[in-house]
Amino acid sequence: MDGRIKTMKKKLLIHICCAPDATIGIERLCSDWDAEGLFSNSNIHPGEEYEKRLHAMDALAGETGFTFTADAYEPETWFESVQGLEGEPEKGLRCEVCIRERLRTTARLASDKGFDAFAAVLTVSPHKNAAMINRLGAEAGEEFGVEYLPTDLKKQDGFKRSVEMTKQYGLYRQDYCGCEYSRNRGKNPTVSASPKSKVQSPKRKLDPT
Ligand code: SF4
Repeated sequence: MDGRIKTMKKKLLIHICCAPDATIGIERLCSDWDAEGLFSNSNIHPGEEYEKRLHAMDALAGETGFTFTADAYEPETWFESVQGLEGEPEKGLRCEVCIRERLRTTARLASDKGFDAFAAVLTVSPHKNAAMINRLGAEAGEEFGVEYLPTDLKKQDGFKRSVEMTKQYGLYRQDYCGCEYSRNRGKNPTVSASPKSKVQSPKRKLDPT
């Protein structure tokens, strides 16, 4: 024994939606927590875009030493979960369903794997409602018996800092939220969302179990 007191950090599982948002989450949360990530994003369309975002997260993990896993990419299940909500605006009911399911998946895994808490980096986006995300996280935490750590990572110039770090690490930054409907709106906001189109699944599948 060298007489120094070692503080054991609590374990935190962070839902990762994309590498640019993860930059600020890693910077702000890893000093106080023994943190790992879960990339759980079956909302992303098409499959090639999913691959790009996962690849960017791999690159960020390589740069920072942050550990993460990706769960199975199941876009068909995601499309089923938002059926009837295709025309909803961003921050509306479709987003609530989409975010709830990803946070439930994270909460379930955090509980199964003995994490002390879980969190989400989605709150850095200026296009997202942090209060809604934190409410959904708290509900998922209650359902699976694990603490949810609320955040609002856009505060204190968090979004600006995430943009800086994304450039610094040379990471891919997407120009739409993720699903087919947000992609179509980004191209032409006056066009209403199209119905479900052919789903393309990438080859890579990782399972955190
Ligand atoms: S806009 Fe984003 S949060 Fe909303 S349903 Fe689409 S992918 Fe999910």
